[in-house]
Amino acid sequence: MTDKSLIEPQDGQGCHAGASEMEAAARAAGNSEILDQYAADYPQGPHGKPQSMCPAFGSLRVGLRMRRVATVLSGSACCVYGLTFVSHFYGARRSVGYVPFNSETLVTGKLFEDIRDSVHELADPDRFDAIVVTNLCVPTASGVPLKLLPNEINGVRVVGIDVPGFGVPTHAEAKDVLAAAMLKYARAEIKAGPVAAPIAGRSDRPTVALLGEMFPADPMMIGALLAPLGLAAGPVVPCREWRELYAALDSKVVAAIHPFYTASVREFQAAGRTVVGSAPVGYEGTMAWLAAIGAAYGVAPEKVAEAQNTFGPAIKAALAANPIQGRITLSGYEGSELLVARLLIESGADLPYVGTACAKSEWNAIDCAWLEARGVKVQFRATLENDCAAMEAFAPDLAIGTTPVVQKAKERGVPGLYFTNLISARPLMGPAGAGSLAQVVMAAMSNKSRMEGMKSFFEGVGAADTAGIWEGAPNLRPDFRAIQQKKLDKQARAAKAEEMI
Ligand code: SF4
Repeated sequence: MTDKSLIEPQDGQGCHAGASEMEAAARAAGNSEILDQYAADYPQGPHGKPQSMCPAFGSLRVGLRMRRVATVLSGSACCVYGLTFVSHFYGARRSVGYVPFNSETLVTGKLFEDIRDSVHELADPDRFDAIVVTNLCVPTASGVPLKLLPNEINGVRVVGIDVPGFGVPTHAEAKDVLAAAMLKYARAEIKAGPVAAPIAGRSDRPTVALLGEMFPADPMMIGALLAPLGLAAGPVVPCREWRELYAALDSKVVAAIHPFYTASVREFQAAGRTVVGSAPVGYEGTMAWLAAIGAAYGVAPEKVAEAQNTFGPAIKAALAANPIQGRITLSGYEGSELLVARLLIESGADLPYVGTACAKSEWNAIDCAWLEARGVKVQFRATLENDCAAMEAFAPDLAIGTTPVVQKAKERGVPGLYFTNLISARPLMGPAGAGSLAQVVMAAMSNKSRMEGMKSFFEGVGAADTAGIWEGAPNLRPDFRAIQQKKLDKQARAAKAEEMI
């Protein structure tokens, strides 16, 4: 018999509820299969729960960027508020559907009925090709059974996914959850009969589908790199419209530009497609990638050599014309950190550390080996603590990282650049990517004296809980702190004792 207390997680627990309790509840509610699959696809790091934004943002954004796709969230109001806020901050320009719940509708199963009703209401084939319904943490922990939703209503596809923070470690991997669910659906449609061609038409050359969201110019650059091989760039997955999924599955070779699309790769492999890792970054990366794609497609070696000879000198020239001098530490959670590190090193940077929140996979193994051969410490599933420790230990001229890493760097007078906004939003591939980072990186490094000036300007304003201008001495209460610490220790001991029972 199921322990009822396990299947009644209450709204408001959120990220602060213990991940292990939420996971136990989800398993008790019949979601073990999904969680086991996530554990295999996205092996967890040292941190049990996300250190970045809510993972569901990744899948939400993928849905919101697709034409004629409606998105519906089912989760705690605070989670949905945060997710819609961030979506609109990033320019979603589209409504996010929400099915609210309370303890009663959650426990009685009414929430599922409400979700089903909302999907029926939304299913207008004139407006939508598909509706994506996402269970956030609490509905996943309660086992709200999205798989029981109708597969399709009035010709509108219904795709239900569970994206709990206690099963999907990063928002990058959540993109994979939705992309794979859509590929799976599209694969079943292809098996069932003829499907529509993409609106943009089909290439007359064999295509290479591209896995990973990139700067918009990158797929075009990759297309130019592939042309001498007699190939063309196929759709980018996650796709922008449903029909592109068919064209992606139709590509004989798939380039896993971003390495964390484990479940999507499984769909491509089930369709008999060959997957190639790494990406055409810098000179060595581009040469190796062209050779790997050529081999996967059985292109004659002379043609591959011709392409290499066409682009190699241009990349070398761009790298030489845009040198980067100085020491950089690099970290992020987008999945492209190793590629950026390669490019920076080929540009001349001294880069001793790269941390990524994503896991090691077959598709970034080449990049990892390349970096390690150059003495770089590559940290997969890096924690914020790893990244900050590296920044402090290596004393770089520039720290590229997530918001808290950059904040820490600036506090120390070290110039910092946000990976997500300033680095991953630039072309990286082929000749176009070769010189693209130098300007922003060198400009940031030259800010060292400004950073020092700011540091001395703010000297003496205090830090952490004594930050700010105080009229007297900061009102520190070490006695309160000691009491609070005692409480926390007691809770930790109780949790430990419970684990042992
Ligand atoms: S859905 Fe996201 S924000 Fe909400 S509890 Fe889970 S991880 Fe946290």
